[in-house]
Amino acid sequence: MDSFHDTTGVDETLDPGDWADIQALSHRIVDDAVGYLRDVRYRPVWRDMPADVRAFFKSTLPHRPTPPAEVYGEVARNVMPYPMGNIHPRFWSWYMGSSNFTGALGDFLAAVQGSNLGGGNHAAGLMDSQVVNWMKEMLGFPASASGTLVSGGSMANIIGLTVARNAKAGVDVRERGVGAMPKPLRFYGSEQIHSCHRKAMEALGLGNRALRRIPTDAALRIDIDALKAAIAEDREAGFKPACLIGSAGTVNTGAIDDLAALAALAAEQDMWFHVDGCIGALIAIAPENKRLVAGIEQADSIALDPHKWLHAPFEAGCALVRDAAAHRNTFAVTPEYLESAPRGLASGEWLHDYGLQTSRGFRALKIWMALKEHGVEKFGRLIDQNIAQARYLTGLIEAEPALELMAPTTINIVSFRHRLKGASEEQLKAFNTEIMLRLQEEGIAALSDTTVRGQHCLRVAIANHRTRREDLDLLIREMLRLGRQATA
Ligand SMILES: *Cc1c(COP(=O)(O)O)cnc(C)c1O
Repeated sequence: MDSFHDTTGVDETLDPGDWADIQALSHRIVDDAVGYLRDVRYRPVWRDMPADVRAFFKSTLPHRPTPPAEVYGEVARNVMPYPMGNIHPRFWSWYMGSSNFTGALGDFLAAVQGSNLGGGNHAAGLMDSQVVNWMKEMLGFPASASGTLVSGGSMANIIGLTVARNAKAGVDVRERGVGAMPKPLRFYGSEQIHSCHRKAMEALGLGNRALRRIPTDAALRIDIDALKAAIAEDREAGFKPACLIGSAGTVNTGAIDDLAALAALAAEQDMWFHVDGCIGALIAIAPENKRLVAGIEQADSIALDPHKWLHAPFEAGCALVRDAAAHRNTFAVTPEYLESAPRGLASGEWLHDYGLQTSRGFRALKIWMALKEHGVEKFGRLIDQNIAQARYLTGLIEAEPALELMAPTTINIVSFRHRLKGASEEQLKAFNTEIMLRLQEEGIAALSDTTVRGQHCLRVAIANHRTRREDLDLLIREMLRLGRQATA
């Protein structure tokens, strides 16, 4: 019988055949999930997958059904035991948040409710706008500003830089393209700027070279005098200086540019001022440290990352733009099949007019639920706590002759290395890399590494609401042990 001539008369659906069964399984999944998160501290931060688990992911496209309990069993065996580890209290690699259970429930409910946040007149759309408004409030942005929730900081930066490009192009760049611009644009950031800005420049058709990397001072902040000189030089050479990108927390060391000085310079030079606040924008809600990001509220656009210091489950980024019209004019397109109606479902705002996506997920819910549960003040205190923990770790390193601090600690990122008597830079790199890998492989802690001013260093970035000071004590003890072991 071919499907075209199906005679059973029963229409198929993806809904469960037996709702009671799926309810029981769902309860089990939630019970397992609660235990998983409750006991995360007692599992290794990370462990490599055995061969049979790797082989599992080579299985081919399933053609026939599998009972849902069995499907879950496969996930429980092959996926859940081998996470990246960023939910663990001793995960400090690269830079990411550590998620939270309420946020996970939010993701689940968002999927159950199922709305498409491209827009429309429904509750999820209103909540999306409300969360954007809360972000504005947290950062001291005016209520008249606009914004959008996106996949993460990279996309949020692309949104901000696209509005900047269009606002400064000197031509209708949407209609005529970058080739019609009267003068080539130049954007500026410090040499410590995140790599996503390079991707943005390339995607915007401006090219990597249009982003000038300006030298930094001893604290790895953009050198304002060097910046002024570069702008003058470019004007002289026929370029149009269009946009300053301030870093509120660099990814290497957490350095925060002088945002107030950049805001003043951008105003004086008639340039757009964008802040990459993926790491540090939210310091604005932290009572003890908020002065570090003073001036951020003067930006024309800000990229921030709720999946970092708000610990939203991935993915959640946010772009804010002071001039709502400039934002909308950069992205809004109204095709005939997405026209608004005076009433009903299509009478709500079209949220896709503020970015590149058409369909959008309900990522607002996980942020909303966690903010509602804990209140913004607690998130502010947790940011202060991470910064205090980084200062504590810095103190331990400075007190330990075998260790060496490699960059000043401004916020929650500590760059350091294990010393090795008489070793070359190359040997130091190999030695420290070995310590880092053993820490990971023994499941003790996850650090990452980087190079600052030509010198390799290990890097601890504490954006983690589960970290305790005793975890940092343990890190130092274990590093010294592994250092002795590696030299033995
Ligand atoms: C993390 C980060 C980004 C990129 O954000 P994603 O959320 O990873 O896309 C950009 N800039 C800085 C400074 C970051 O720390």
